[in-house]
Amino acid sequence: MNVENNAGYVHSLESFGSVDGPGVRYVVFMQGCNMRCRYCHNPDTWNLRDTQCEKYTPEDLFKKAYRCKPYWGDTGGITVSGGEPLLQIDFLIEFFRMAHEKGIHTAIDTSGNPFTFEEPFFSKFTELMNYTNLVILDIKQTDPVRHIELTGQPNENILEMAKWLSDNGKSMWIRRVLVPGVTDDAGELRNLKEFADSLKTVEQIEILPYHSMGAYKWENLNIPYTLADTAPPTDEQVREAESILGIRYGRIKTCQQKKI
Ligand code: SF4
Repeated sequence: MNVENNAGYVHSLESFGSVDGPGVRYVVFMQGCNMRCRYCHNPDTWNLRDTQCEKYTPEDLFKKAYRCKPYWGDTGGITVSGGEPLLQIDFLIEFFRMAHEKGIHTAIDTSGNPFTFEEPFFSKFTELMNYTNLVILDIKQTDPVRHIELTGQPNENILEMAKWLSDNGKSMWIRRVLVPGVTDDAGELRNLKEFADSLKTVEQIEILPYHSMGAYKWENLNIPYTLADTAPPTDEQVREAESILGIRYGRIKTCQQKKI
């Protein structure tokens, strides 16, 4: 493969991530996303070929990440997030293949939006899964209509992806960004719980409380931000969602603003 043609467009890097997977992690935030989530705190990742972002070959990025190995201990490793990492799947295959060869734990934090059973994507995806230990899947909404309202994209393929991962023994964490009045409807949360329970490989469900720290980026990009009047969830709202989702051990993480 010509590595020049397989350069990855990277939005930013975080050397000591603690929220995107187990342990201490080197987190790569890839550029590009086709979703348009109303609460997105990184709209600056949307444009896949952003001229501001850095390009790496898989080899160069792996070498850079590997320098942090002493901090990973027994549980940490590398997470690729975004934006939407699966949009750059050729790059990911090479990057994770190198990590896998060194026995490093690899995780993908994805919305699942690019998933399809069509070729050539599906063969690439199955190859990528050979080198991936954990998929962190952010299910924005289980209801198809509300999913389109929230993200501008359908969710049937995303739920299909979750089922495929389950059927093929791939470990998953399910995530939900909790936005009061938008994603915290009790019925919707019950559906999410039911869906997660129908899968065989979900290790945990996480709640990421919404925050508006990325709102200024929408303003900078001249995109109307429709949640300007929405406050972060209260502790009580988080606990209520936690209770519906059956989260018993406080696996609630802070939805951190990604490094810019
Ligand atoms: S999937 Fe993630 S990066 Fe894409 S719009 Fe939604 S929150 Fe933003």
